[in-house]
Amino acid sequence: MKRNEIDAKYKWHLEDIVDGDDNWEKLFSECEELIGGFKAYKGKLGKADSLLACLKLSSRVGLMFEKLFCYARMRKDEDASVDKYVGMTDRAMGLISKLGAETSFIESELASLENYQLMEFISDSDFSDYDFYLKEVMRKKEHILSEKEEKLLAMNNFDGQFQEIFTMINNLEVDFPTIKVGGEKVKLTHGSYSVLLANKDQRVRKAAFEGMYSAYKKLINTIAATYAGSVKKDNYYAKVRGFSDGMQKSLYNDNVPTAVYKNLVKSVNKNLKYVHKYVSLRKKALHVGTLHMYDMYVPIVKDAELSVSYEKAFDMVLEGLKPMGEEYISMLKTARDTGWIDVMENEGKRSGAYSWGSYGTHPYVLLNYSGTTHDIFTIAHELGHAMHSYYSNKSQVYDKAGYQIFVAEVASTVNEVMLLKHLISETNDKAMRIFLLSYYLDMFRTTLFRQTMFAEFELKAHEMELKGEPLTVKSLSDCYYELNKKYYGRSVRHDDEIRYEWARIPHFYTAFYVYKYATGITSAVSIVLDLLKNPDSLARYKRFLSAGGSKSPYEILVDAGVDLATTAPYEAVMKEFGDTLELLEKELGEN
Ligand SMILES: [Zn+2]
Repeated sequence: MKRNEIDAKYKWHLEDIVDGDDNWEKLFSECEELIGGFKAYKGKLGKADSLLACLKLSSRVGLMFEKLFCYARMRKDEDASVDKYVGMTDRAMGLISKLGAETSFIESELASLENYQLMEFISDSDFSDYDFYLKEVMRKKEHILSEKEEKLLAMNNFDGQFQEIFTMINNLEVDFPTIKVGGEKVKLTHGSYSVLLANKDQRVRKAAFEGMYSAYKKLINTIAATYAGSVKKDNYYAKVRGFSDGMQKSLYNDNVPTAVYKNLVKSVNKNLKYVHKYVSLRKKALHVGTLHMYDMYVPIVKDAELSVSYEKAFDMVLEGLKPMGEEYISMLKTARDTGWIDVMENEGKRSGAYSWGSYGTHPYVLLNYSGTTHDIFTIAHELGHAMHSYYSNKSQVYDKAGYQIFVAEVASTVNEVMLLKHLISETNDKAMRIFLLSYYLDMFRTTLFRQTMFAEFELKAHEMELKGEPLTVKSLSDCYYELNKKYYGRSVRHDDEIRYEWARIPHFYTAFYVYKYATGITSAVSIVLDLLKNPDSLARYKRFLSAGGSKSPYEILVDAGVDLATTAPYEAVMKEFGDTLELLEKELGEN
């Protein structure tokens, strides 16, 4: 369908950001001119009036830039074949690099100030919009070295090189074989692999699995050397900056205590019996003599497709999210009725779904609604992001509104889980219940256990390097294989190929990132359980939604009742997984 054939009620109103292309051009020139103004503050940030003026200019220009970029980019996402918006998006990108270059002095100049000077600014009420920012400068300052040392470190422009090498290997060098699928030959690719592992025929899954690892095994020495280099690099930069290891440095940057990481790994380990139970249920449900590692992705139940109109789907979301309170629900209706959401697919439109927007305007949601069950959850998920932004933008000043990655997937997952639990308890249709329960279980499996296993692997690899143990194909693969055995238990055959799985995970080159997926779902499920049990906790959750980036993400979650540095939330979530497993087992048993 062409975009102009779609009913206006399914389109977002980007005019709410900038009213038309002409005004965009005006704003662009204005912004460009203001960027020239930063020079005047260079070398003067120790003085309160200069610093305040400079920070205010930075907020003003930052907000203008957000508007320019969001408008152009979202116009481009409507239909990428319109050259005009591709051009405007590129120009906005050019502007941000210019802005970055003109303002890079601010942070380094502030970091060179004495702590007492920074403290003076922080306690000055004129700086109240910037106090958290300045506290962060002061916190990070501890790990900034002498000018000469920093200069030497700044000469390093090969920080991302190991990731670059792995990307080359992974995208260009790995030579995937062709396998047979129902008499037809299919070339294995990264994309087709996940589809093939969900194939109903175990022989197809086996061929895909063995084919995939035969390709990686041919390059395994190169990949091990690349990963070893990456781990050494992480630990090196950590030590240079006065951290004990790469994990500590990475979590310090997130402003998250290392106890979070340790308790996640510890608690999941303590509750692996639930994962083992899930694996044995999978074996039973699939009716296979031997369950292999390549049988982990095939759905254990048939898809129960709802196939409903967008209007019906939205009503289901409203119904499912009722525990969020009247105000939240009425804002969801506002989102639906006043042009926050771009619903339908059209030629040239960006695929997938997201929520985005700029401060000062309501958030936006892009969908490609096609009526599947998954699409209903996508509405709930993206609206979770949108409402998080809506409340944070409404409650915080510009400089404290943006929330960090550590909490970014909490509100979206809260909505998904809330809707899921509502539908599970409401539906009388057995096939539907089974489908929803297994949908929920898969969220735990992929987001909680798998990512925690990855987190444990990268922690171990970095520890081995610190102890001076060589990181080789054998040591890395043995480590991974042991973890795999521990996590999946005895109901599955630990096929030898799986020992090389670490070699195909791109995320390992952004070390200590994946644990955030696991803490995200843990926080979300804890919050939902809390909201359903105790409606009074809604006020606490609203505070979370409204907090933006006004505190460390860890503290914001503590305020919402989730202390990830303790084992309690993980234990509660593992129990929820166990309870869900039991429900599914009962449904399947009655068949
Ligand atoms: Zn999301």
